[in-house]
Amino acid sequence: WQSPAQLAGLLQFRSAVAWGGGLLLSTNRRIAMKKTLTVLSLALLAVTAAQAQEKVLNLYSARHYQTDERLYENFTKQTGIKINRIEGKEDELMERLRNEGANSPADVFITVDATRLAVADSYGLFAPVKSKLLESRIPAHLHTDTWFAFSTRARVIIYNRSAVKAEDVQTYASLADPKLKGKVCSRSGAHPYNLSLVASLIAHDGEAKTEEWAKGVVANFARAPKGGDTDQIKSVAAGECGVAVSNTYYLARLIRSDKVEDRRMMERVGIVWPNQANRGTHINISGAGMVKTAKNPEAAVKFLEYLASDEAQRYFADGNNEWPVVPSVATNNPALEAMGKFKADELPIGNLARNVAVAQKLLDRAGYR
Ligand code: FE
Repeated sequence: WQSPAQLAGLLQFRSAVAWGGGLLLSTNRRIAMKKTLTVLSLALLAVTAAQAQEKVLNLYSARHYQTDERLYENFTKQTGIKINRIEGKEDELMERLRNEGANSPADVFITVDATRLAVADSYGLFAPVKSKLLESRIPAHLHTDTWFAFSTRARVIIYNRSAVKAEDVQTYASLADPKLKGKVCSRSGAHPYNLSLVASLIAHDGEAKTEEWAKGVVANFARAPKGGDTDQIKSVAAGECGVAVSNTYYLARLIRSDKVEDRRMMERVGIVWPNQANRGTHINISGAGMVKTAKNPEAAVKFLEYLASDEAQRYFADGNNEWPVVPSVATNNPALEAMGKFKADELPIGNLARNVAVAQKLLDRAGYR
């Protein structure tokens, strides 16, 4: 596999030789040079062929977790397929894939959040994948025809134990209850985590009811939306906010923290699994799909299948505090165990995508920015 820089270098070298040939050389020398160039081209072809046999997988990854390193190493050990990885921010990698088009070296794109995967899919970046193994291991509501979830995280309600009662925040709907006036904190409504949550509310309750809800939440804000999930947790612990929502792995990270002040902080924060009495708690995913123009499609499918293996599933759970998508895989993560079991919303993850654009407009209208 040539990096773009290497390829550009090679091309420059070849055109420089051709230039020199045109300007400076006699006809005889030019013929000789042509032969040399043919030899060079053949050599290049041979190199490419050798690399094709070497078995590689070109991975575009928007996941930046330490434990992913071992995942990749073990895949190479098991299959002999070398992974060339390009890391970047979600949106940058997606732009890059779109700009590269059919010339993209990428075989697999891996990222977090169903909204982002759905956007990538709507750009036509993924190829359909048929794999009996993936279909048997990953529950139907956690994949589409083109992309697959490999781990899940839940979006839960957190509250300050001395300012809010758990029974008052048992559902997402309760966040709009006037009882919580001046107590609700949130990250931006435009963030994919919130867009996915609101997309799920639209799927369950319809657009009109969800817009009313959004207005109610805005009316309850303790402050304008800002920061990430961890900032909401800290503000809830500090009492600046009574209630907020957060992804579970941020909570687990603090529960497992080496720092005593983090663990102390978590003692002030209560966690509620929303909507246990009805549809269950909204979950999101990290996932991946095969790129439509993959040059190594077999390696790509093998890699996706590897991510659904027991071993890879345990890395996701124990390393990044997420739940495996394969139901039979047992985890060994004290923080996940401390949070306990819950009923997850089984809304097909691909359906969220349909409502994301509507969710964004609705949140804008409600002033949830
Ligand atoms: Fe996150």
